[in-house]
Amino acid sequence: EQPLLSVENLSIVYEVDGEVTHAVSGLNLTLRKGETLGLIGETGAGKTTTALGLMRLVPNPPGRITSGKVVYDGQNLLDVPEEQMRTIRGNNISMIFQDPMTSLNPVMSVGDQIAEVVLIHQDVDKARSVDKAKEMLEMVGIPAGRYSEFPHQFSGGMKQRVVIAIALACNPDLLIADEPTTALDVTIQAQVLDLMKALKQKYNTAMVMITHDLGVVAQVCDKVAIMYAGEIVESGPIRDVYKNTQHPYTKGLFGSIPDLNKNTDRLIPIKGLMPDPTHLPEGCKFHPRCPDATALCGKVPPKPVIASTGGEHFVSCHLCQPVLEQAG
Ligand code: SF4
Repeated sequence: EQPLLSVENLSIVYEVDGEVTHAVSGLNLTLRKGETLGLIGETGAGKTTTALGLMRLVPNPPGRITSGKVVYDGQNLLDVPEEQMRTIRGNNISMIFQDPMTSLNPVMSVGDQIAEVVLIHQDVDKARSVDKAKEMLEMVGIPAGRYSEFPHQFSGGMKQRVVIAIALACNPDLLIADEPTTALDVTIQAQVLDLMKALKQKYNTAMVMITHDLGVVAQVCDKVAIMYAGEIVESGPIRDVYKNTQHPYTKGLFGSIPDLNKNTDRLIPIKGLMPDPTHLPEGCKFHPRCPDATALCGKVPPKPVIASTGGEHFVSCHLCQPVLEQAG
């Protein structure tokens, strides 16, 4: 089966005052129809830049996509004319941002905002678009009677539901959600996640869920990709990556390294900070923080190898023993 989205060797830089920041380097991803991928990593790992790259929305300047392909439904989005890209963004790929207020118009009723998207993207008349918008409100758990209310009359969680309704109003094949629940309190977070899971099941929408929350990944995602300093260091189906965690950074993130010296189960936080993206270390970018680094790690960047028998679990670490000869 041909993947819905396949990202090949994507690299994105930001250039400010002649200084180049490597935000994303040589990134590879694949997503099938209906699959959800969790993209995780610390702040500054390149997650949001990756999302913007997939939508071809990297601000230029200072940002620039320097290499790679983003193949969606058989065509490389980096090659299509801007006008066509705008259509794809509206019709096929939607994005949900962290702060719902960035996506909502404060002086338009929430219902009209949904109806407007329906009108643009679906072949319906004005009256039908209003009916559809009401259906969408109900679907995300907001009574249709609140159609004429404005964003400021809604709580944060309700606003994010409106944003989800707008994002889904064009029936996208792919939804990119950048920390969609981070700005919400914990109970509301759970409700919004449940809603996203239900919608995914109903519409078979593929999702890229950007988060730093492992709980979110475990709950919602089929696959996970862990980013560090602009690169994916480990990726694969959830069961492989959680059961057979290989990369020292992922192990650190998952808090699975017990403190053997003290003979307790206390978890060791990952020491040190992410490297300065304008001066990335040679070799493996994680080596200054890696508890297992060898001399080779400081010189030679590791290549991805297949780490689990299913053939979809990739790890970029010199210590990882491949289960198969060649990574894809
Ligand atoms: Fe650590 Fe070396 Fe593996 Fe990098 S390649 S994660 S430094 S062991």
